[in-house]
Amino acid sequence: MRRVYLDNNATTPVLPEVLAAMHPYFGEHFGNASSIHHNGQETRAAVEGARASVATLVGARPSEIVFTSGGTEGDNLAIFGLVNSGLTLGAAKPRPHIITSTIEHHAVLNSCKHLEASGCEVTYVPVDGRGLVDPDDIRRALRPNTRLITIMMANNETGVLQSVEEIGQVAAEADVYFHTDAVQAAGKIAIDVKRIGCDLLSISGHKMHAPQGVGALYVKKGTALRPILHGGSHERSRRAGTENVPGIVALGKAAWLAREAFASGDLDRMSALRDRMEQTILGEVEGAAINGQGAPRVPNTTSIRFDCIEGEALVIALDLKGLAVSTGAACSSGAIEPSHVLTAMGMRAEQARGSLRFSLGKQNTSEDVEFALSLVPQIVTRLRELSPVYNKTASSY
Ligand code: PLP
Repeated sequence: MRRVYLDNNATTPVLPEVLAAMHPYFGEHFGNASSIHHNGQETRAAVEGARASVATLVGARPSEIVFTSGGTEGDNLAIFGLVNSGLTLGAAKPRPHIITSTIEHHAVLNSCKHLEASGCEVTYVPVDGRGLVDPDDIRRALRPNTRLITIMMANNETGVLQSVEEIGQVAAEADVYFHTDAVQAAGKIAIDVKRIGCDLLSISGHKMHAPQGVGALYVKKGTALRPILHGGSHERSRRAGTENVPGIVALGKAAWLAREAFASGDLDRMSALRDRMEQTILGEVEGAAINGQGAPRVPNTTSIRFDCIEGEALVIALDLKGLAVSTGAACSSGAIEPSHVLTAMGMRAEQARGSLRFSLGKQNTSEDVEFALSLVPQIVTRLRELSPVYNKTASSY
């Protein structure tokens, strides 16, 4: 059976070039990058090459890149590392204040909740109906003890891009640290940490065609960060633990390919496929709408809500026909709670539950999109025919 994967915001396949780059580091080049002998120096050189590549992707210096196990660790290191260093150094008031938003990934939200439970103050700024944070809300939320603003660059469910440069300005004017979770933005839009004016920025390998279990955190030179892992002095004492050399090499290669894609127009091709998908679905399916319409978005993502549809049922029906999509964040799939992102945007629970996320990757072709389009309208219609709620409201369409 033909299978098409349009769930690249959950994870991406490792590209063949990336696999080829990392492969020798499982066998031939196996040294510990901290060893001073030949085997160690060989892998050290590969790690530093990857560091330079990741740094270039985000406009940083190589020394400002810390390799991590992924986005969750990067977010935790940024938030706990910064807040804890403030406590230690006495650089902030005893109860540091953090500003974040209601639509962050749980890697950020739950880190903030944990800190809140241990005495920190946290403000969760709202978003509007398009999923956008108003930088003025952040300005208004500032307090004398605000230590950190953490706002994501691109949302994992809707692809909506925040005005990170404006938020960076608010942070700079208030002399407050700014972290942005760029896990869903890296490789999809150009990133320049200096233009954004952020102090910390997290990325994850498996969202950009490198494997799961590797990521990076940009830490601006001079940022006081207390490690969350204690051990050796790896990564300039910012992240203890023997480096995941094959993963890091893969991330370096994926970052290089991402930069190439910006130049080759690959992302324009991707946004054209995304737009075709949206126009066709909206044209053929009544009672459908784009979540985040009107906001700037990454080129690969669309979140579409279908009235009178149970998203989970639609995911399963499409999967049975060979199409992999998602109702939203992978970690909340199967959960009964509607998406916190969509409800924060003002959607009713049933609208959030009736939403589907389609996310493209570099491997997807126009044939993949046509395959999806041959299934979605037909299956939505079939599910609605079975829905007593739809049959009651159908007359309104
Ligand atoms: N932040 C965002 C926006 C994400 O979408 C994800 C993963 O879905 C993460 C953080 C966590 O990244 P990882 O899976 O690498 O831990």
